[in-house]
Amino acid sequence: MRISSVTATPVRVPIYAPRLHSDGVTRSLDRIVIEVRTDEGVTGLGELGGRSPHARVRAAGDDIVGLDPFATEELRGRLTGGKFADRGGNILYAGFEMALLDIQGKTLGRPVSDLLGGQLRTSVPTTAYVFRLLDHDGRPAVRTADDIVAETERLVAATGCTTIKFKAGSAAWAEDVAVTLALRDRFRDHQLRVDPNAVWSLGTSLRAAAQLAEADLEWLEDPVLGIEGMSQVTARGGIPTATNMCLTDWPELPAAVAAHAVDVVLLDIYYLGGMRSAAGFARACAAWQLGIGLHSGGAGASELGIGTAAVLQLAAALPTLIPAMDSMYSHVMDDVIVGGPLTFRDGSLTIPQQPGLGVELDADKLAHYASVAAEATSANRRGPSSHGGKRPQYPAY
Ligand code: MG
Repeated sequence: MRISSVTATPVRVPIYAPRLHSDGVTRSLDRIVIEVRTDEGVTGLGELGGRSPHARVRAAGDDIVGLDPFATEELRGRLTGGKFADRGGNILYAGFEMALLDIQGKTLGRPVSDLLGGQLRTSVPTTAYVFRLLDHDGRPAVRTADDIVAETERLVAATGCTTIKFKAGSAAWAEDVAVTLALRDRFRDHQLRVDPNAVWSLGTSLRAAAQLAEADLEWLEDPVLGIEGMSQVTARGGIPTATNMCLTDWPELPAAVAAHAVDVVLLDIYYLGGMRSAAGFARACAAWQLGIGLHSGGAGASELGIGTAAVLQLAAALPTLIPAMDSMYSHVMDDVIVGGPLTFRDGSLTIPQQPGLGVELDADKLAHYASVAAEATSANRRGPSSHGGKRPQYPAY
């Protein structure tokens, strides 16, 4: 069996409101849907995000025509040039590996999780992922602590999630602390995570950690940038720490371990160069007593159904996975897969059981959201960072 053609289609799918984070505003999901066809009539699906330029994805697709879809290491060599620390190459590879594993699973009649070690679970708990939101389409903005608590109540009711993740970093650090304490006050029995995406200084991080001690956080995620800063917070903050920023790929592992940088690593299938690499990384983390969770959004924005199915297939096969996995999937208004968006049941997403990734493309939806993407101008692909961007926040002392 050989790859006979590859299509890469940019799509833009709406989310229910523009969400704020320390890098700016996400207004929609801009993704690239990859279709890899074989000479035996099997088609595999992959998904990439805005961090992969369409021209590069198209060129990569052209380059792998003729390849055996089981030859993923050959694929890695072609797409990364053999480099071990090339994030762009890793992300690109991950999108195509997804499609090749989909082909392999469909060919064997098994879900992709069976290619990664087999299913240890049939569903995966996810987070109620809460952001500050801009007003949109008649919906009011979500800015204050009261707004954010009300928005969390809505998300928790809609999904059944018992883990809440608050995306901090889009307002002053003291406001983030106040929001977190308000969330804990309202949700006494939920797990609670806070992630300011490394926009705080070390001093701010330590001061915030002291004020958050009573919030009983599951973890404080990337308060400060880099291995040194995170190791200081881990040693001195008194709260478990997590990262998807200072330890994201194999070459960073030795220094992060030596510095005891974090307690938990959020694996990202894109940063780590695919699902198989992520599964191996999880094993390595266990050797150093690093907990592992699953990250959402590594390829840019967050995942649609194809990317989410890939993360679910991996999650099914990870013995040491800490629930709940990160997911912003509850924010999407629609999807390009048959049957519409995957549905939450008791706070969890079900592992698709059909061969391959377990999802199929809806041709009409793909065409519709491809036309939306084509009409979009580069000016509104990414919102302005008018609320502070990446400037570190220093404590007021
Ligand atoms: Mg994070």
